[in-house]
Amino acid sequence: MSLPTSVDVAIVGAGTSGAAAARYFAEGGASVVCVERRPLAEAGARWVNGITRTALAEAAIDLPRSATFGQPHPFHLVTNTGRVTVRDHDVIDVDMRALVALLQDQAQTAGAVLAGETTVGGRDGDTLVTDRGRVRARWIVDASGLAGARLLDQPILDTSHLCAAAQAVHEVRDRDAARAWFEAAGVPAGEVCARLGVAGGFSVLNVRLHDGADTVGILTGSIPALGFPSGKAILDQLVREQSWIGARVFGGQGAIPLRRPYDRLARDNVALLGDAACQVFPAHGSGIGAGILAAKLLADTLGGGGALRDYEVAWHRRWGGLFAAYDAFRRWNQTMDPQLLDELMAVGVIDATFARAGLDQAMPKLSLAALSPKARALGRRLGLVPGLARVAAQVGAVHLLSAIYPRSERRLGAWSLGMARVLAV
Ligand SMILES: Cc1cc2nc3c(=O)[nH]c(=O)nc-3n(C[C@H](O)[C@H](O)[C@H](O)COP(=O)(O)OP(=O)(O)OC[C@H]3O[C@@H](n4cnc5c(N)ncnc54)[C@H](O)[C@@H]3O)c2cc1C
Repeated sequence: MSLPTSVDVAIVGAGTSGAAAARYFAEGGASVVCVERRPLAEAGARWVNGITRTALAEAAIDLPRSATFGQPHPFHLVTNTGRVTVRDHDVIDVDMRALVALLQDQAQTAGAVLAGETTVGGRDGDTLVTDRGRVRARWIVDASGLAGARLLDQPILDTSHLCAAAQAVHEVRDRDAARAWFEAAGVPAGEVCARLGVAGGFSVLNVRLHDGADTVGILTGSIPALGFPSGKAILDQLVREQSWIGARVFGGQGAIPLRRPYDRLARDNVALLGDAACQVFPAHGSGIGAGILAAKLLADTLGGGGALRDYEVAWHRRWGGLFAAYDAFRRWNQTMDPQLLDELMAVGVIDATFARAGLDQAMPKLSLAALSPKARALGRRLGLVPGLARVAAQVGAVHLLSAIYPRSERRLGAWSLGMARVLAV
C-alpha cells in the first residue's frame, strides 16, 4: 500500500489516541493518514483497561456490550489494616482490542487512510519521514506513545515517574477456590479487590472475578525505579501462588508515564497526544480517556479554524490543574510506606469520597461537615499534617497556575518555572 504524498493531517500511531484523532479529523472533513509501526490489528493497548463512562460519552464512543465487562463494579481499596469501599463510581472495564479496532474502523469509514507496519523515523519540516515514503502534512500529530517517534524531542522521563504495569485475563481453574480467595479478602465475588501498597506506596494488585467466574482480570502496577518488583513480577507471583488461576487468555504489560502532561503540547506544525504528551491521569496511570478527549479537543480546535497553540492553551486550562493536582498527590503517595497508607485510611483522608473522585478522575467534593471529623482525627496524628498541608497547598497552586496558562509563548518559560517550583520537580 502506498501512502498519500500530501495530506491535511499525518498521525503517528494507531493506538487509542492516534486512531481517535484520525476519526475526529476525518469526520471533520480533513484528509488524514495515520501510520502505525505494528500491524494495525496489534496497535495500542491489548489488554483490559478501566475507562470512565463520562469520557466515553464526551468522546461520542458507543461501545458494544461485548467490548465491556459489564457496568461499574464496587471497588474495595484494601491496605494492611484499612479498607475503603466505593460502591458508586463511573469506571467500566473495556477490552482494549475491541476499542482500538472500533476507533480504527470509524476512522477508515470517515475516510482516513490507516497504514500498518509503517514506521516513522522522524520529521523533515512539514514532512513526515516513514520507511514507506514521505508524507507532507499541514499538521503532524505524534500519538506514538511513551517510547515512540518523539517528534518534539520530548524529554526522556526520570524512571521515578514511570509505572511498570501489567494486566491479564486468566481462566479460572477452580471456581470454589476463587470465590474462597475473595471471601478471605472480605470482597464479594464479582467486585474489585484492589490491594494498595503491595510494592511501595504507589502500587496496586487489583483482582476481579468476571461474571460467571469463568475468567479473572488481574491488574498490577508499581514503580521499579524505587526498588520494587514490577507490575509483571507481582502478577506472575499471584498466578504462581494461586492454583485456582489457570491459563492466560490475553493481556500485556508496559510502562506508563505518571508525570503531569508536558507544558508544551505543540510546536511548529506538530502536536503531541496521549502517552506521547504524558496525558495520563497520574494517580493511577489511566491514559485512555485522557488521550481520546485530547484527540477530540485537537481536531475540534484545528477544525474550527484555531491554531496548535489554541489546543495547548485549551488543554492546560481545562485539564492541567486536575492532572497536576493528582501528580502532586502521586509524588507524595509513592514515598509512603504501608503504615502511612493505613494511617491515611484510619483518619479518613483516603475515604470513599476521595477514592471515588480518583477513580472518576475528578477533584473530590469536600464539604465542611465532612472535613471536621477528619480534622479532629488529624489532631490525634499530627505527624500526618506537614505532608498533607504541602499537598493541599500544591493542589491549590497548580489549579491557579493552570487556569492562567499563558497564551503568549514569551511568558511560558516563567510559567513552567513556577509550576516546576510548586511541584518541586
Ligand atoms: C498494563 C497496563 C494497564 C493499563 N491500565 C489502564 C487503565 O485501566 N485505564 C487507562 O485509562 N489506561 C491504562 N493504561 C494506560 C493506557 O494503556 C495508555 O495510556 C494508552 O494505551 C496510551 O494510548 P496512546 O494511543 O497514547 O499510546 P499507545 O497505546 O502506546 O499507542 C501508540 C502506538 O504508536 C505506535 N508507534 C510507536 N512508535 C511509532 C513509530 N515510530 N512509527 C509508527 N508507529 C509508532 C505503537 O506501535 C502504538 O501502537 C494501562 C497501561 C498498561 C501498560
